[in-house]
Amino acid sequence: MPDSRDSFDAIVVGAGQSGPFLAARLAERGQRVAVIEKRWLGGTCVNDGCMPTKTLVASARAAWVARNAARWGVTIGGPVSVDMAAVKARKDRIVNESRGNLVTWLAGLPTLEVIEGEARFVDAHTLAVGSRQVTGARIFLNTGARPVIPQLPGLSDARYLTSESIMDLEILPSHLIVLGGSYIGLEFAQMYRRFGSAVTVIERADRLITREDPDISAEIATIFAGEGIDVICGAEATSVAGAPGDLRIELDVGGAKRTVAGSHVLVAVGRAPFTAGLGLEAAGVTLDARGYVVTDDKLVTSVPHIWALGDVNGKGAFTHTSYDDFQIVAANLLDGGNRRVSERIPIYGVYTDPPLGRCGMTAAEARASGRRVLIGKRPMTRVGRARERDEVAGSIQILVDADSRAILGATILGIEGDEAIHSIVDIMYADVPYTVLERAVHAHPTVSELIPTVLGSLQPLEGATEAVRRGVGFVPVEGGGEAARRGAGVGFTPPSTT
Ligand SMILES: Cc1cc2nc3c(=O)[nH]c(=O)nc-3n(C[C@H](O)[C@H](O)[C@H](O)COP(=O)(O)OP(=O)(O)OC[C@H]3O[C@@H](n4cnc5c(N)ncnc54)[C@H](O)[C@@H]3O)c2cc1C
Repeated sequence: MPDSRDSFDAIVVGAGQSGPFLAARLAERGQRVAVIEKRWLGGTCVNDGCMPTKTLVASARAAWVARNAARWGVTIGGPVSVDMAAVKARKDRIVNESRGNLVTWLAGLPTLEVIEGEARFVDAHTLAVGSRQVTGARIFLNTGARPVIPQLPGLSDARYLTSESIMDLEILPSHLIVLGGSYIGLEFAQMYRRFGSAVTVIERADRLITREDPDISAEIATIFAGEGIDVICGAEATSVAGAPGDLRIELDVGGAKRTVAGSHVLVAVGRAPFTAGLGLEAAGVTLDARGYVVTDDKLVTSVPHIWALGDVNGKGAFTHTSYDDFQIVAANLLDGGNRRVSERIPIYGVYTDPPLGRCGMTAAEARASGRRVLIGKRPMTRVGRARERDEVAGSIQILVDADSRAILGATILGIEGDEAIHSIVDIMYADVPYTVLERAVHAHPTVSELIPTVLGSLQPLEGATEAVRRGVGFVPVEGGGEAARRGAGVGFTPPSTT
């Protein structure tokens, strides 16, 4: 005889960046809601992702500024050292506060129950958690993603680190080898170099962060070289030997064998959705070839009473995309809305220093779209604020559709790039021509103040259609911004955060 305490209006599986918020909205409407979490409330972002890495990035930057203080005319009376235990303690305090706030908030919602354990479908409405079975009229999957571990001989014996386990280190690796030169790998590489480790990044592709345009990869490679980070691209790791403290990684670099020695290895080669073990076949939920849950534009899976939100649906790989998934589902279910994922404009930051702020299309995507594209560019060396700070690496680049005058995308690699990008994405959401932003007055001296100037010097994008190179003038098109936005959204493949 089923217990009525095991019957819920809604069950959320996984407490990442959308599930808890959706659960709370449903509970506030008086629904009986269960949140099932197998590890920690807050998921990756709070415990193993954005929040701990950004606290560590802040500590690493403090070390870097202190070591380079003379550049700003400041004298430090002695060598700069980093207390890794204190760095970790600061990170733990900030993470624990956030997780604690979430625990307290959810515990205070009378119709919401948090169930600790791993959920597995028994049938389309029933989940088993340990020996308990719970049923839900509606089920929301927010199970996130996990690091991919390659099949590499010797890797397990080398007791490799992942983006999760490296957060527990209280020691400084003497030489950290980072397998993977994409978003997550680069953040850790620069961070540990600044803490004082020797760092080698090994990337299979012929350049770093291949989802970005080649000039951005090159600029980041230059920044890394300037900090003494060794980058080996076009290199396939073939085996690992040794254990922490004394490791050797064999590489195939364009057919030639090479060995890299180090003390620790961090595996940051990608992330995969957390779907294995969920028993989705028992519920009839369809997965795509890469294991992501297939959903429609409103995040409903192949089973009408089951939704998938966050990284597990493959439509985003960020905290803000997961949170937006919550807002879409909540608006449609509770507020009579008609919101869709395809209305979202891609945006993200990469928290190297200087950071990379990105929205909409890359230049490669804009070219591939077949549009007539204009580009405005300015190196950070010509941005007053960057010169005043003596941190002039990077550039501002903005892409515009020559016909509709809509902004198609932008890349700001440079100080405050992760913040300044928002004035561009807001204009894209406003669906107005770029000239609105070109005529806006921004405060001096900021990085953002250069954005109107960059838009005042648009040139044809090399490799975009012939007509624009021949200098055909602008033809304002009503609603052109909307078209560009849809283009930017539809043509976009969410980057993995690695
Ligand atoms: C090192 C790192 C840095 C990052 N930095 C950023 C950043 O700066 N900005 C940004 O936007 N994004 C960043 N991300 C990505 C970001 O953390 C995720 O996109 C974000 O957490 C959204 O995830 P989610 O809501 O899909 O689920 P998650 O946060 O991954 O949570 C899923 C939860 O589901 C639980 N779970 C899984 N399976 C089950 C099951 N069967 N039963 C019960 N519970 C289950 C898991 O334990 C987990 O707690 C980073 C990621 C990493 C790894």
